Amino acid sequence: MKLIFATGNPGKLHEAREILGPSYEVLGPADLGLDWEIEETGNTFQENSLLKAKHIFNQCGLSCFADDSGLEVDVLDGAPGIHTARYASDHNFADNIAYLLFKLGSIFPLQEGCKSTSSRDLFPGAARFRCVITLILKDGTPHFFEGTVEGRIARQAYGEHGFGYDPVFVPDAFPDNTMAELSDEVKNSISHRGVALRALSDFLKDKRFP
Ligand code: IMP
Repeated sequence: MKLIFATGNPGKLHEAREILGPSYEVLGPADLGLDWEIEETGNTFQENSLLKAKHIFNQCGLSCFADDSGLEVDVLDGAPGIHTARYASDHNFADNIAYLLFKLGSIFPLQEGCKSTSSRDLFPGAARFRCVITLILKDGTPHFFEGTVEGRIARQAYGEHGFGYDPVFVPDAFPDNTMAELSDEVKNSISHRGVALRALSDFLKDKRFP
């Protein structure tokens, strides 16, 4: 089945292709000459995800999906949340990570002898990635799928894989590694995007697509 993924983020596109597998041909907007840039004016992940999916659907009328995702840090009252991509600087991952570590460091200055069960030095408090996928099929009806992955924030960046905040996110399922130290396959098996996209795939199989 052919699906258009309403994103300009190569990291998201790569992961979606890996997660959905060979039954799906996942195309980016650029593959069809579509414009994917849209202002994210919604107040929730779901609203922004719907805006992005509609923006693509309205240009081509083909089955498509969009992902709005981000990081929620409990001690920051859920920030950066829907502002994750532009927390310090628009889509500049290094600046955004530096700003997050600065904010958390000002709340939790380094404490000597702080005990942790992880080999990584972690800030106190839970964090999670959240992803809301909107799927629009040819009849124009939107369907929503959500995924989260729980973890903690490391005081320092580690690892080269993935994208965005992966170098400072330590998932509870692998407490000695940041997401950026895990292989693509392992990340996709636990990630917010993996959970949401597998739900989308189950939904399509129930509908006998592809
Ligand atoms: P948006 O969905 O385009 O608003 O951007 C979401 C932002 O959240 C990305 O630019 C990344 O900074 C961050 N993000 C979303 N998913 C992930 C992930 O899987 N790993 C790391 N960062 C992510």
